[in-house]
Amino acid sequence: MADCIFCKIVAKEIPNHTVFEDKSVLAFLDIHPLAKGHTVIVPKWHAETLFDLSVQQLTDFFAGVRNAMQRARSVLRPDGFNVGLNHGNAGGQAVPHLHMHIIPRWVGDGGGSMHSIVCSSSDEPVAAVAQLFH
Ligand code: AMP
Ligand code: ZN
Repeated sequence: MADCIFCKIVAKEIPNHTVFEDKSVLAFLDIHPLAKGHTVIVPKWHAETLFDLSVQQLTDFFAGVRNAMQRARSVLRPDGFNVGLNHGNAGGQAVPHLHMHIIPRWVGDGGGSMHSIVCSSSDEPVAAVAQLFH
């Protein structure tokens, strides 16, 4: 897509520090890293969210995510990772081209877990919410 910064990175119109690349994905170092080796992985085709991918594209995307994690694991030797998507406006997605964040973690690095992202706890009982899915 013409005005998409991640499409421009995929097209090599904007430089990047590549961590992993295959036919379907490009993984590169985040320009504002939250931790050493913070990486974003994008599909090479423009898509905004997971809902816009076919099952085959999802498979290729997630295979790329694991390959990029394996690359980061062998180079940086972290103790773990946070892996996730800011998905949609309310989810904090700033760049409207699907991307997975891979954040290497080390014991004692002072960071939190996924549970530290959202603080707006729900008053609704879990059982009541579960009814909505029936
Ligand atoms: P978000 O859309 O909030 O999930 O995050 C977008 C991420 O892309 C941010 O962490 C940015 O630092 C990162 N980012 C934006 N532009 C670039 C770029 N040119 N190269 C590398 N990372 C970028
Ligand atoms: Zn794009």
